[in-house]
Amino acid sequence: MTSIEQLQSMIDKSSRIVFFGGAGVSTESGIPDFRGVDGLYRQKYRYPPETILSHTFFMTHREEFFDFYRDKMLALDAQPNAAHKKLAELEAAGKLTAVVTQNIDGLHQKAGSKNVFELHGSVHRNYCMKCGKEYSAEFIRDSKGIPTCSCGGTVKPDVVLYEEGLDQKTLTGAVEAIANADMLIVGGTSLTVYPAAGLVDYYRGSRLVLINKTTTPLDSHADLVINGSIGETLAQIRVS
Ligand code: NAD
Repeated sequence: MTSIEQLQSMIDKSSRIVFFGGAGVSTESGIPDFRGVDGLYRQKYRYPPETILSHTFFMTHREEFFDFYRDKMLALDAQPNAAHKKLAELEAAGKLTAVVTQNIDGLHQKAGSKNVFELHGSVHRNYCMKCGKEYSAEFIRDSKGIPTCSCGGTVKPDVVLYEEGLDQKTLTGAVEAIANADMLIVGGTSLTVYPAAGLVDYYRGSRLVLINKTTTPLDSHADLVINGSIGETLAQIRVS
């Protein structure tokens, strides 16, 4: 049996699939990841991405933060790829109960997924730090320098920066979904960003699948490892 046939057979037997993913899910939509071959770590910046996207940096170098954020994190024209679409199809067919994502790009929802736990927030929610007024992602994109509310406060994206805690309700929902899953597909994540990566430990079943272009720290625990592209892999799955 090929690894795709094994994946198909596991999916056929499951009815509470959860997908746990990261930046690698969106590279085929043209959004760079951090640690992949074309990732932001290999591009030349004055600071590593995780320094720029930290709470301390946001508080001390706000203009530089927004330059990077607009340039690299806001990809509002990006479209869902085959992976996002297949996951939405599996949910619509009653096979998949939740997508848990570390991504902030909103592409799962754009593809039609409904139950999405966005562990690190979303570029599509932004609010004034002073009066709480909400703003769109387009407002941030079209602003210059530091995006500013009519009240004078900074408009901050609702994304979890390094050093900031995760939203408790999102975390609890994600843990519950994973703990109740009968199959967990982990894809496009280096599994190095905590606490998000630790959520995989809540899965107790015997259908743990890893799909990644490179190896991950969890490969030896998985029931099936597919070293390849997540979009190309999921595109081959039939939903019945
Ligand atoms: P990461 O960059 O650490 O790792 C991405 C992994 O995906 C790598 O192991 C890479 O080999 C693999 N990969 C890349 N393209 C792939 C493909 N087409 N098919 C299969 N595998 C592929 O990403 P991470 O683990 O999600 O951690 C990075 C952090 O950065 C996360 O917290 C995330 O919030 C954030 N981030 C988000 C976005 C986004 O929203 N699209 C983009 C960059 C970074």
